[in-house]
Amino acid sequence: MATNYGGYAGKVLKIDLTTKTYSEYEFSDKERELYLGGKIMAAKILYDNIKGIIDPLSPENILVVTTGPLNALGAPSSGRFNISSISPLTGLVCSSNCGGTFGINLKRAGCDAIVICGKAEEKTLLKITEETVEFLPAEELWGKTTGATQEAIGGKSGKIVIGPAGENLVKYACIISDERAAGRGGLGAVMGSKNLKAVTASGKNICKPFNKEKFMEINKKWTKALLAHPLTGSQMPKLGTAGLVTGMNARHILATKNFKYGQFDGFEKISGEYLAEKYLIKNKGCISCPIQCARVVEVGGKQVKGPELETLGLLGANVMNDDIEKIFEWNYELDELGMDTISAAGSLAFAMELNEKGIWDSGLEFGKVANITDIIHQIATRSTEVGDILAEGTRNMSKRFGGDEFCISSKGMELSAYEPRGAVGQGLGYAVSNRGGCHLNAGYLVVLEGLGLSINPYTHKGKATLTMTFQDLMEAVSAGGNCLFTTYAVFPGFLISKPNSIMTRLVNKIMPYLGGVLYLAGKFPTLLAVNLPSIFPHSVCLKAATGMKLNFGKMLRIGERGYNLERLLNKKLGVDASCDTLPKRLTDELQDEANKKSKVPLEKMKKRYYRARGWKNGLPTARLIKRLGIEA
Ligand code: SF4
Repeated sequence: MATNYGGYAGKVLKIDLTTKTYSEYEFSDKERELYLGGKIMAAKILYDNIKGIIDPLSPENILVVTTGPLNALGAPSSGRFNISSISPLTGLVCSSNCGGTFGINLKRAGCDAIVICGKAEEKTLLKITEETVEFLPAEELWGKTTGATQEAIGGKSGKIVIGPAGENLVKYACIISDERAAGRGGLGAVMGSKNLKAVTASGKNICKPFNKEKFMEINKKWTKALLAHPLTGSQMPKLGTAGLVTGMNARHILATKNFKYGQFDGFEKISGEYLAEKYLIKNKGCISCPIQCARVVEVGGKQVKGPELETLGLLGANVMNDDIEKIFEWNYELDELGMDTISAAGSLAFAMELNEKGIWDSGLEFGKVANITDIIHQIATRSTEVGDILAEGTRNMSKRFGGDEFCISSKGMELSAYEPRGAVGQGLGYAVSNRGGCHLNAGYLVVLEGLGLSINPYTHKGKATLTMTFQDLMEAVSAGGNCLFTTYAVFPGFLISKPNSIMTRLVNKIMPYLGGVLYLAGKFPTLLAVNLPSIFPHSVCLKAATGMKLNFGKMLRIGERGYNLERLLNKKLGVDASCDTLPKRLTDELQDEANKKSKVPLEKMKKRYYRARGWKNGLPTARLIKRLGIEA
């Protein structure tokens, strides 16, 4: 089915591994307007195909790979793509964003998205071109690491692959494209359960923007603005996400010793500054990105991708390790074996605390690094009892051994490295997030609560509407095809570079009310029917790329629609308000005895959040569904 909109290839392909057939999946221009692309397009496809609770590792599950309209057009930081499915880790909807080159190549093969269903009888490699889809044998690839697999099938460009962890159905196995991961939620295990080792895409199809001249003009200005901004033009290229470690430690939000503390004595030795000074070989990053936030370091004489902040925090402070070289090594091993570093690290930390409390002796101890490489391999291969248990993730481990109150996950997904008792809005986000304990799907409020701006991190005031607003905005940005880090630059640069100026302090005071103001304005859509090119270039860029009548308000509404649609899908899978939880360590125990506000006032914030969203018992009402134009 062709499209009248620019930016899209105009085709979604449904591939059935059981019958080895493929056909076009109908996705209309009306649906493109409502759901745009990326994770929201995937949510629509999943919603229409998943009827109720399923075993995520059964042939009933589907894997949906989507691009956004900006992918392959050359807009700044728009090389990323999305993979969604029902997660074996949470049993719920999961979308995972990836900076590899598969998305762009999928568009070159003439597809905006692929929907992979069924289960192949034999180990399979899918090869997608403009003309055809081939189902090739992959027996010889089985057992290979992600790097070796890509090398064996023609190099790193334009592939998605799994490693041994995906083959062995590790609940948090990831999918790798080039060196980048679609990390969260165990989508690698979904591929493994389908006997699908790899997918390649290639072709010569060229997607064009609707208004090329305008599009180029916007991108030129946008790139300039990103490079001039203190976060996206200076801190991120200089230090990467690793640059957040020092600030997180200072603000008591660096998860330490399985989230018991928010500060780590050895933080300097796992910081972005230390990495840059002693180990950085060069910057790298996703295609079409002026920021280039990734780090290249050396492991065993080989130049490899360095760890992100989450990995540094969780394989550093959270397991009481200050040996950054070990983190480089584990990060590399986890990528090669195909496992999410966040959930793997969270599972290790939980096991360490179980051991410390005398509940389960796995041999893992806080601060002991000698056996971790071995245990990471045991997890990926499930070759020992310890590895097999850890491969199930923290929620399943706590079902077996207890320790609920310090099992640091939400909806079964392990939290990332931000300790939310020092940034309570981030805590709300972790709890209500559709995919579970994820910092990005949470709305990433920690950026406002100390890592960019400095609004009061301990108050519940304003956090509900801000969380909702940022969740919706980030949904829309991701659906369009941009990296979420481009949203850092929506805050005027002086707020970051002059944190103590009168103006910055004033903004920090006013900011908690912004979400509420946008929420009220959203009730009268014409009030937000504006474009703000210097603050939020995403909507003008998408307008020029697609030809859709987009503006800031419409983008916000698309994000809101996407967030609610994922929630409705989760409702089919058994979710309601009782699933929006955090472990008691974070809601009932003070992080700092001297600070009575240093715990997450979750129930108070949840009530306000549901009210702002228009949800009852944690679910969208019929009225809201109608207002958003969702056909449910
Ligand atoms: S900012 Fe970093 S993660 Fe985002 S697109 Fe650029 S290189 Fe990739």
